[in-house]
Amino acid sequence: MRRPVALASYQWPPSNEVIAEKVGLDPREIIRFDGNVAATPPASARPAALARALADVNEYDRGRYHSLRAAIAQRHGVGIDQVALGAGSDEFIVLLARLFAEGGSVATVPAFSYSMYPFAAAMAGAAIVDDPKTADLVFVCRPNNPTGELPEIPDVPGQLVIDEAYADYAGVDALERVNDGAIVLRTFSKAYGLAGARVGYAIANSETIDIITSRQAPLSVSSLSAALALAAIATPLDVSTQVAERERLAGELTSLGMAPVKSYTNFLFIPMEEPQELVEQLMAYGVVVRAYEGGLRISVKDELDDNVLLDALRCVRDGETMPRPALRRRRATAETLLNVRLRIPGEGRVFVNTGLGFYDHMLQQLAFHGGMDLRLEGVGDLETGEHHMVEDMMIAFGEALDEALGDRRGLTRYGEARVPMDEALAHAVVDLSGRATATISISPDPGMAAHAFQSLAQNARITLHVTATGENDHHVAEAAFKAVGRALAQALTRDGTLVRSTKGSL
Ligand code: PMP
Repeated sequence: MRRPVALASYQWPPSNEVIAEKVGLDPREIIRFDGNVAATPPASARPAALARALADVNEYDRGRYHSLRAAIAQRHGVGIDQVALGAGSDEFIVLLARLFAEGGSVATVPAFSYSMYPFAAAMAGAAIVDDPKTADLVFVCRPNNPTGELPEIPDVPGQLVIDEAYADYAGVDALERVNDGAIVLRTFSKAYGLAGARVGYAIANSETIDIITSRQAPLSVSSLSAALALAAIATPLDVSTQVAERERLAGELTSLGMAPVKSYTNFLFIPMEEPQELVEQLMAYGVVVRAYEGGLRISVKDELDDNVLLDALRCVRDGETMPRPALRRRRATAETLLNVRLRIPGEGRVFVNTGLGFYDHMLQQLAFHGGMDLRLEGVGDLETGEHHMVEDMMIAFGEALDEALGDRRGLTRYGEARVPMDEALAHAVVDLSGRATATISISPDPGMAAHAFQSLAQNARITLHVTATGENDHHVAEAAFKAVGRALAQALTRDGTLVRSTKGSL
């Protein structure tokens, strides 16, 4: 009998639960800057995108996801016979090492690159060699993980594999090298925001694709993942926000005395001698970054998350305690999928985007005047009208608020505000009572304003009185949301260390 032996395997960093336990935080307070993945899922990742795949989930896709392969081929201007799908581009890294270097040699360009290549070489019984010209297989990581740089592609006699996991951020690719026999690897895990779905693909000439697919399991991508990838690729990629955020973060890190390397990716590499100490210090704040020999790698997320990282770095530098990290929660129902991050007190960094422009604007006003940092993004079945989404966004926000309030210790508890908007006047009184009560009169109501406040009171467990009158329903609602925000800001101010109730709890 053959006895397989275990090899050194790819090491996953510890889970949120393990880290939270270690540093004494809630797992939801942990923010991962160590995975080079998008801060949020794409807007296309919603239940409706999966409905058809679920209806057929008892079946195999006999066409091996023809529409997905066709969409990929079209995106890159290649033939459908030049595309192979896999469970992440990691599947191809392992497969190609076996296929082209079994018992032989593998080189990587640059030499300091993605840790999966040596594991794949070991699985193929291949040696890692320094000189790409002598290797049977050369992985060119372009742009490179973990340094973010864009290496030159060498001319080599061996098989060239150009791993373009991050090429969407660089805005350049090497697809033309496919005509010279190179294999290009791509993934839905990074710019498309679908790391958990595990979909990657290889592009090569059709003969090479035939060889690759003949060595794969018949259908390694699930139909649900293929559906998510197909929905994502239907919209042209726009990485401009992420690229701008990368440059902002690089600038902020520079002003903190660090020197990030110019990056063509969604992460930054900061050379330093002993990065492990800083990794441990940041972890105490729930901020997880990754140490390498000679540097620190930080994934760029979005403004709200990245500001938590910057705050933590400042706290480490100044030896201070951190303001409570942003609370993060997800709310998913058959009707909507919402992603909420809330921080109180915050600095009015608000972004609400559910596709309902008017109520997005209303909640933004409330959070801004409430002195909060709120990022609430979601998608849902707006086809049926505003009702589901307005209700769910207020439930999600209310639940996050309830949780952020914790035991409500040290808070003023009561707040009141009067806010006019032109002819409209709103009056709001709030009590962080722990009991859900809403007495609301909005006249005229643009539709869902009163219901929105009821959902908020219910889920944040607060008492809310709102009266708003005027001529124009938009003015009336806007005055009301601002008044509730201002009343909340007052109730949320710090007032000693007591739970403001003779009962001792709220
Ligand atoms: N290539 C590079 C350079 C990577 O950094 C990663 C992800 N860490 C991958 C490939 C694998 O991506 P996936 O398997 O999720 O497609």
